[in-house]
Amino acid sequence: MAVPTGFVEVADRVLVARYPQWDVNVGLVLGRDGAVVIDTRASSRQGDEVRGDIRALARDIVVRHVVSTHVHFDHTFGNSAFGSATVHAHDNVGRTFVSDAERIKAEFRADPGDGPEYGYTASDAADVLATALRGPDCTFGKGATIDLGDRVVTLAYAGRGHTDGDIAVHVPDTDVMFLGDLIEQSAPPSFGGDCWPLDWADTLGSHLNWLGPASVVVPGHGQCVDVEFVERQRDEISVVATVIRERITAGMPLEQALVEPDARLPYRPDWLESAFRRGFAQYAGTP
Ligand SMILES: [Zn+2]
Repeated sequence: MAVPTGFVEVADRVLVARYPQWDVNVGLVLGRDGAVVIDTRASSRQGDEVRGDIRALARDIVVRHVVSTHVHFDHTFGNSAFGSATVHAHDNVGRTFVSDAERIKAEFRADPGDGPEYGYTASDAADVLATALRGPDCTFGKGATIDLGDRVVTLAYAGRGHTDGDIAVHVPDTDVMFLGDLIEQSAPPSFGGDCWPLDWADTLGSHLNWLGPASVVVPGHGQCVDVEFVERQRDEISVVATVIRERITAGMPLEQALVEPDARLPYRPDWLESAFRRGFAQYAGTP
């Protein structure tokens, strides 16, 4: 996948770098009293590369804060490269970080996975396994603010979605919002084994209240998007939830729900397997 690397300024002193491994985005917000890095990639080594790319922009940038948009390794395993910074995340990331990290390491140990499809090599997978874990130092429930002296960065939780700890990171003076994997541009939204498909669209709806026609939204993966893209993807996720609910209330068995076609579904059935499993389990109270 040919993806440009290096930080690009998307608004006044708000930069985004898109890295080829897992096609992940890293944000950088510069202020008078230091910088905030939003997500840190998938290993200690990749976090070191991010640090190097920031130093290449200007040697005097001091990263005082790291924000994790959610718990997943491709956004958090580089945290260890930012030793002196405070790492911020939602309470649920604090609660699940170690178990999720151990789960993903065990998965990579058993099977390094689809490297070429996701832009990573065997060496990148080995780096994931070698990563020293660093979870959040500072967690919050509803919201938090990082004060950079001449500007603020706000962190907001609006409910479950891609995981139970996805947050929006907003730079209000520039109208840029980072939404982590609540939104994806280069692939359909990722419904994994820890997703909340019945809640996801409402969560996005809450964050949409803060967006306007000029907003720049940085997804977890892919190019920056606008509010219309977010609304469209929110609507697609909402259709998935509607079909799951209809099948539950119709008494359809899960095994049938996993394969039953429906022209309204916006994504391939195999992409939605975890969405149906999680939706059914959530409804039964056993996720
Ligand atoms: Zn994710």
